[in-house]
Amino acid sequence: MTADAIARGKDYRRHLYAEGAAVLDQDEHVAGAEAPFDEALTNGLLVIVAAHWPEATTKSKGSKVWTLPADMLLQVLEDRAHFADGFAYLPTERPVTELAEDSTLRTLDTNETVLIHVDQLRGAVARTQQPRHGRGPGRQVTRDDVAALLALDDHPALHVLHNHYLDERWRRAQVADLNEHARAASYLALLPEEERTHRVEAADAALGPTPGDIDTLPQECPVCGHETLASIGSDDFGYGITAGTCWVCSYQRSADIAYDLGMDIEWEVRWTDF
Ligand SMILES: [Zn+2]
Repeated sequence: MTADAIARGKDYRRHLYAEGAAVLDQDEHVAGAEAPFDEALTNGLLVIVAAHWPEATTKSKGSKVWTLPADMLLQVLEDRAHFADGFAYLPTERPVTELAEDSTLRTLDTNETVLIHVDQLRGAVARTQQPRHGRGPGRQVTRDDVAALLALDDHPALHVLHNHYLDERWRRAQVADLNEHARAASYLALLPEEERTHRVEAADAALGPTPGDIDTLPQECPVCGHETLASIGSDDFGYGITAGTCWVCSYQRSADIAYDLGMDIEWEVRWTDF
């Protein structure tokens, strides 16, 4: 990879961190919370560890190279940073400022240190492992885990939890959509195979393209995978993604989510096109 490509990859990791952290901050008990927790934590840690020890984020065997999972990245922090009472202390190049008596901001001679709650995050990784792999009781992400995840953003290499990640409407839409995914998936599991086939055929007949009317083209459903998501609403970005309802599994994509998916594609076009 070129230096430019690595920089773009870093921005994408920061985006994945911010997305997961913001959604969990809104509701740590959202359906399947363990998956966004792992994704946000892993990507956040990769950015932070790379800022201090770029060579420590990957492992290689022969010609294979892979990035470390969250628990190994936490171990890197414990081994390489100053570590005390469960926290890793990372120095930054940001000077400490303080408010002087005359109300002016004074820059001190020392730099800020960022604290990472390694023990809390390590406990969270262990607890969320089973639900992520489809076993165990679920609801394993706690408020303390999320607080430790959000605190990663103090590190200057991240510092990304602003703009739409703070927007209440965006956060609510993401939480609602994760819950809607889970609801439709459990409904889908109840449908016999022949009923699914019947619904796919009915959707094909009803939603097929009508001459001169491209808005009605069905879209692929993210839950059942069939091209049976009946379109409602407008396609803001022209990528063929709109709000809609699936004829097979009943999944409903909201207008807010359709807009966000369009934004995500804009992102990918801009940042991963190399
Ligand atoms: Zn579906």
